[in-house]
Amino acid sequence: KPTVAIVGRPNVGKSTIFNRIVGERVSIVEDIPGVTRDRIYSSGEWLTHEFNIIDTGGIDIGDEPFLSQIRQQAEIAIDEADVIVFLTNGRDGVTSADEEVAKILYRSKKPVVLAVNKIDNPEMREDIYDFYSLGFGEPFPISGAHGLGLGDLLDEVAKHFPKYEGEDYDEGVIRFSLIGRPNVGKSSLVNALLGEERVIVSDIEGTTRDAIDTPYRKDGQDYVIIDTAGMRKKGKVYESTEKYSVLRALKAIERSDVVLVVLDGEQGIIEQDKKIAGYAHQAGRAVVIVVNKWDAVEKDEKTMKEFEENIRAHFQFLDYAPIVFLSAKTKKRTHTLLPMIQAASESHNLRVQTNVLNDIIMDAVARNPTPMHNGKRLKIYYTTQVAVKPPTFVVFVNDPELLHFSYERFLINRIRDAFNFVGTPIKILARARD
Ligand code: GDP
Repeated sequence: KPTVAIVGRPNVGKSTIFNRIVGERVSIVEDIPGVTRDRIYSSGEWLTHEFNIIDTGGIDIGDEPFLSQIRQQAEIAIDEADVIVFLTNGRDGVTSADEEVAKILYRSKKPVVLAVNKIDNPEMREDIYDFYSLGFGEPFPISGAHGLGLGDLLDEVAKHFPKYEGEDYDEGVIRFSLIGRPNVGKSSLVNALLGEERVIVSDIEGTTRDAIDTPYRKDGQDYVIIDTAGMRKKGKVYESTEKYSVLRALKAIERSDVVLVVLDGEQGIIEQDKKIAGYAHQAGRAVVIVVNKWDAVEKDEKTMKEFEENIRAHFQFLDYAPIVFLSAKTKKRTHTLLPMIQAASESHNLRVQTNVLNDIIMDAVARNPTPMHNGKRLKIYYTTQVAVKPPTFVVFVNDPELLHFSYERFLINRIRDAFNFVGTPIKILARARD
């Protein structure tokens, strides 16, 4: 999917426009502890186009002075987006801060569409002519408050979407990414993995300019490591800001089959790790937890078990994710990672036989009776798998309300054990049938 970024000085209405474009979808956030409702990145739709959208205004760069903040937000847009919406405010006219933003955007080769916000009625259209002076051609009048002009703006934006040919890899290719806060050792781990293989490194044509995917082959299996560009391209100031790492992680997760959540064994788990892990879970991808820098940990025979318990306690929502302890530095146990990724990917794609599935559910019900509420007992008639990536099951019941969270959990675990699902979330949907 192409990515659109909204840039502009503060108070031009970036968040309003962002919310208008993404509509209601952004407010649907699963309730997972540690996952904040950061509204900086979401997906939108216009006619037949689907795209991702970033509100750069939501990325605060710390205590930097005002101008430097604007500058860095514009740089992020240039790095991350395929098309940039440069937002200004018709009520204020062209300000010097707008001119600063324009200067940075001139230097980018990305297409820029200029929008003038707060043009709430047709009489105000006169106000937009000054904005030609910014040098980005025709300004598009819009009103975030009234939702006017967005269609024309999005038409123009969509004209600049790149063709995403090379984006789709063959069915059998496993796409995976490494996510985690800065300095947990993601780049080192990629190098460790690539170093021990006969590496075929090439930048695939047709993918976006920033996302450099690294394909390679091991034991007859093709893999693509997604978004290693973000790991190589280091040293920018905003690299260390939290929302920027989250943004990068979300982009990588979206394009992956399997996500490696990388933790620093030496430093342990912090709040930011939880958030990042929460995003991987929400996206429904297969997940493997990697504890890196295990060489640097002083340990006895209990250390690994304790660390594992700690992970399970902090990441309860990732109870399906296997944990691998390794060291990118000494390469100890790095060879176990690919087989684990492969197993997780297989589970993520697994379709089970319907008759076996129903036997397992019936057996589960026989062992642990279905819950009752107000004298009414849950009845399960039939179960069928409706999707993979992740495996999703529809359970036909007398009353969906009766399928409580804890019983759903129980059924998921029964399915997981019976078919040996590893590393993948499993979803159950209850449907009424009388
Ligand atoms: P990234 O920001 O997640 O990509 O992290 P890097 O790969 O740049 O690593 C951050 C720092 O951790 C570097 O100084 C690495 O040398 C160090 N590092 C990475 N992996 C290991 C490891 O397995 N053991 C130890 N002791 N240090 C590591």
